[in-house]
Amino acid sequence: MQAESIALAAQESRLAAVASHRLAVLRAMAAQSMRQTPRVAEECLTKGYAKPIPEDTWRHMQGKSWHASLNCPRREELALLRVPYLGYDDRPHSGQMIVARSVSAEVLRVFAEIYRSGQFRIKTMQLIDEFGGDDAKSMAANNTSAFNCRAITGGVQLSEHSFGKAIDINPIQNPFVTRMITMPTAGSQFSNSTQRAVSHPGLIQEGDVVTKAFARIGWKWGGTWGSTKDYQHFSQSGR
Ligand SMILES: [Zn+2]
Repeated sequence: MQAESIALAAQESRLAAVASHRLAVLRAMAAQSMRQTPRVAEECLTKGYAKPIPEDTWRHMQGKSWHASLNCPRREELALLRVPYLGYDDRPHSGQMIVARSVSAEVLRVFAEIYRSGQFRIKTMQLIDEFGGDDAKSMAANNTSAFNCRAITGGVQLSEHSFGKAIDINPIQNPFVTRMITMPTAGSQFSNSTQRAVSHPGLIQEGDVVTKAFARIGWKWGGTWGSTKDYQHFSQSGR
């Protein structure tokens, strides 16, 4: 009995030592992360970052924004961005966006510039896969997005979004407008030049921080197109 108690006591003290060692390690890790977090969080918050497409994201993209039947970019040619933006609630947010890896650094620079200016608001920035890869649904939700391997609106050619080199921003305040239609329909109140002269924190205007930031990286704005205007659309090629 006594021998058992001694053995138990020894075991308890070993366990206590292990526990206290683990606790010390955890405390050290916590202290380190406390020291690092504000700086890292601040950096991520204001600059954003790019990373390879994670496995779960890639799986979620299949049949939505990515199709084996179309000539879509390879996974390694794409990057998942974390992007800082000011919301319509005037608060900082972190959105997700997929673009071509080759343009990820310049796209991050554009959104960091827009964010730091404090002059423009973005409604929401989720991957289009959250809307089943359906551009109409994403536009109706006023969602800002980039990569979507699909045909152009009303056509068969692959859109510039298919290559991750085009970005749509706040589609309701910045609709796609032809003589016949406005998409999304909720964007009708922001479709003509008189309506677009009225300032709104998420409406893109010539010479504002958004058009200037994209112009700096050589991207073109669909708001300068001829008869058809795509006010939400910026692309590297100008298409
Ligand atoms: Zn577009």
